Amino acid sequence: MSNSIFNKYKLLVLISILLLLGFFTTSYFSYKIAVDLTKDELKYKSLPLSSNSIYSEIQRDLLKPNLISSLMAQDTFMINWILNGEKNVNEISSYLESIKNKYDTSSSFLVSNITNNYYYSKGILKKINQKEQRDKWFYRLKNITGIYESNIDIDLAYKDYMTIFTNYKVKDSNGNFIAAVGVGLQTSHISNLLKVYKKKYNHNIYLFSKEKKKLITSKDMNSFDEKNPKFITSIINNFNQNNKTTQEYVKDGKNYIMNIRFIEELDLYLCVEATEEQFTQEIENTFYLNILMFTIIIVIIMILIIYYINNNQNTLHKFASTDKLTSLNNRNNFDKAFKNIFDSSKEDLTLILFDIDNFKRINDEFGHLVGDKVLVRVSNLFKRTFREHDLIARWGGDEFIALLPKVNNISAYKLAERLRIKIKNDEILRELLKRPITISVGIITKSNEKDIEELFIKVDENLYKAKQDGRNKIVY
Ligand code: GH3
Ligand code: MG
Repeated sequence: MSNSIFNKYKLLVLISILLLLGFFTTSYFSYKIAVDLTKDELKYKSLPLSSNSIYSEIQRDLLKPNLISSLMAQDTFMINWILNGEKNVNEISSYLESIKNKYDTSSSFLVSNITNNYYYSKGILKKINQKEQRDKWFYRLKNITGIYESNIDIDLAYKDYMTIFTNYKVKDSNGNFIAAVGVGLQTSHISNLLKVYKKKYNHNIYLFSKEKKKLITSKDMNSFDEKNPKFITSIINNFNQNNKTTQEYVKDGKNYIMNIRFIEELDLYLCVEATEEQFTQEIENTFYLNILMFTIIIVIIMILIIYYINNNQNTLHKFASTDKLTSLNNRNNFDKAFKNIFDSSKEDLTLILFDIDNFKRINDEFGHLVGDKVLVRVSNLFKRTFREHDLIARWGGDEFIALLPKVNNISAYKLAERLRIKIKNDEILRELLKRPITISVGIITKSNEKDIEELFIKVDENLYKAKQDGRNKIVY
């Protein structure tokens, strides 16, 4: 019996493992698909969309300084002033001052290619010099084929403000380059936008100048080391080589996806970056939570099933081994236990078999229900007569049997006699039948019998003798 329960548990464990395995596999594939979808969403939608929006905002911000500088470059007063020898500095500085005030720019300037003077709203600032790094822009502008150039710079000292410089070539009527003019326009617009994107979408945004090896970004984008732009340079190189707008890389053990586009007007790369984990973490957590929940449910179900099986097994076992009417052992159970005791016992072993006298008549006279009551009452008296470790059973019909280890013939006789008297004098039985009830008893003590069958035959013979002898007798 216990072996079969063990096998059932084994089956349960197997089923649980299969269920868990099945659930894990399906969950894992759904998780994988969800992660891939999220990555695709990042790669093909979210990052490009941010990049587009920022790009168009930058374009918008470039328009104004471009327009102002272009107007200045065509101003005949200014062209004539230069061609007339740049005589009255006051004239040009008040002109620059008025531009500054009118368009609310942070600076306005004119750099002459003839005198190399740098004019601004307060007069002459300096003479420019080809060797100076900060004057390089002038010589660059001079050599480009186009007529203007824009630059963007971030003023980290002042609220992350960005300044856009647009420089235009000024030409004389023959098309000779005579000066450069331009304005600087401060805007908080783009850097604010970068912050919004960081906060709202967790996107890091960088503007990278490859030529200047310089990274322009707002303060809170600390993902790249500004002083060491090697890493981003290698990513940009990669982008230029295979022209793939989406770059994937690992940085500090994290997976990153970056969308890159080149802004020609500014000679800058616009990079929008996101960590993969930030977007897939929730999916991963859900996956683990699902597995945990399912495992808990499986364990609970397993416990319930084991409990149920155990309970059923016990009931079945009880059902198969006891007599329904009297709750005594049945013959089957008695036989099994007897066999074990018979084989191992080296001491006295005595069998008592008794049968109610004329029980058929009780059934006939009072009906089967009263007959049953008599059987139950007799079995109760029978139980009370013997000890815990004596094996007693209903042998069948109105026959009962007791196996008494370490009890000899004489003691068994005394016990049987006590039982006979008890039944005969029982008040409840007398009340039921209005007359006493008697039993006939056969007793046998094991001597040289080979098996239990031989012992059964002998005890049955003694019982038969008791009946033959007029009933209400004990034969041993
Ligand atoms: P004897 O003195 O020779 O034993 O005569 P008897 O009438 O008792 O004859 P016997 O022992 O052969 O009859 C047993 C009867 O018990 C037969 C059957 O109808 C009845 N019987 C068997 N099982 C049950 C039971 O569970 N309930 C009831 N009410 N009667 C039963
Ligand atoms: Mg009988």
